[in-house]
Amino acid sequence: ERDSQKYRAVQVVGKGAYGVVVLARERATDAPVAIKMIMRGGKTNDRVEREVLNHRMLCHPHVIRFNEVFLTAGNLCIAMEYAERGTLLSYVQARKRLTEDEARHFFQQLMMGLDYCHKMGVVSRDIKLENTLVDGCNPPNLKICDFGYSKHEIFHSAPSSRVGTPSYLAPEIVTNKPGFSYKAKISDIWSCGVFLYAMVVGKYPFDRAQDKGKSNRLYNLLQRIVKVDYELPTGDLSPALCDLIDRMLKYDPDERITIGEIMNHAWFREKIPAGL
Ligand code: ADP
Ligand code: MG
Ligand code: MG
Repeated sequence: ERDSQKYRAVQVVGKGAYGVVVLARERATDAPVAIKMIMRGGKTNDRVEREVLNHRMLCHPHVIRFNEVFLTAGNLCIAMEYAERGTLLSYVQARKRLTEDEARHFFQQLMMGLDYCHKMGVVSRDIKLENTLVDGCNPPNLKICDFGYSKHEIFHSAPSSRVGTPSYLAPEIVTNKPGFSYKAKISDIWSCGVFLYAMVVGKYPFDRAQDKGKSNRLYNLLQRIVKVDYELPTGDLSPALCDLIDRMLKYDPDERITIGEIMNHAWFREKIPAGL
């Protein structure tokens, strides 16, 4: 309750499944912060514990900074770094799709942030365009957010349940393969492949939208994922980029490219930022 006096709410900037995200200012300094408010009680407890415990151990330029957590009467509140330009989804939608150079810039930062999370033992399990944010810098920086589905490889070693967003689900998660959970990091790579495709094509490789009006839309989508049935507009994209997407969207987790290999891929290295 005391902490909530510390901030002054400005406006709602996002809506999630379990509450809202508000832009606020710290009264003492006027500094902006984002406050994610999650309704207390009920079934959300487990998820919220993981979100807080995993997010608060991370500190990286491409992961949204966790400031503090506090309680109000109705909500658990996570105060974090505010990302001025909102989600990468709205950034991409405003431009229809990104050029390969723009996409490479964000993708390199996504890989740096995710590599760090994985090295800290944290698997996101929900990498997608609406869970990465864009700051106000020029050039803009990508920041990974939303650790609500995250797992820590040591502390949550129990069998995984199927979570995530349908369009981004890896085949081993769709089929619920026993024993896939130790490979959860490699399932994040699949989602990053969907992410990369969506940035440069402006559509998802596996999409429910294409089944508009049909029944069993979710089933059809999951079937296409399991068959790795997607099309690359090879005429519009460079061969190196097509090769990278193809290596990320491999059915077999053991055949899928790793972060280390991605960072050495020709498309990734084509324009390497200073200091990498
Ligand atoms: P949920 O777990 O409900 O999906 P998120 O953490 O993804 O919640 O936040 C929901 C939305 O709120 C995001 O998609 C984004 O639009 C906005 N948002 C979240 N965190 C921030 C932030 N730090 N800065 C700016 N906008 C944010
Ligand atoms: Mg989210
Ligand atoms: Mg979430």
